[in-house]
Amino acid sequence: MAVQQNKVSKSRRNNRRAHDALTAANPNECPNCGELKRPHHVCAACGHYADREVMVMVDEVDLEDDAA
Ligand SMILES: [Zn+2]
Repeated sequence: MAVQQNKVSKSRRNNRRAHDALTAANPNECPNCGELKRPHHVCAACGHYADREVMVMVDEVDLEDDAA
């Protein structure tokens, strides 16, 4: 096991952790369905991006049909 040569002071430890804070998500409203979505991402609820449909959403996938 690697053992540190010098004690890391509380100040140095805390200075290192100063950059560890998480930033809150900043969701936008989808212009098509109004669901909250990540900015610059396709809406996960309706598959629209910038007022056009780029992803067809399927209600339910029946795994029995695909199994051959
Ligand atoms: Zn949407």
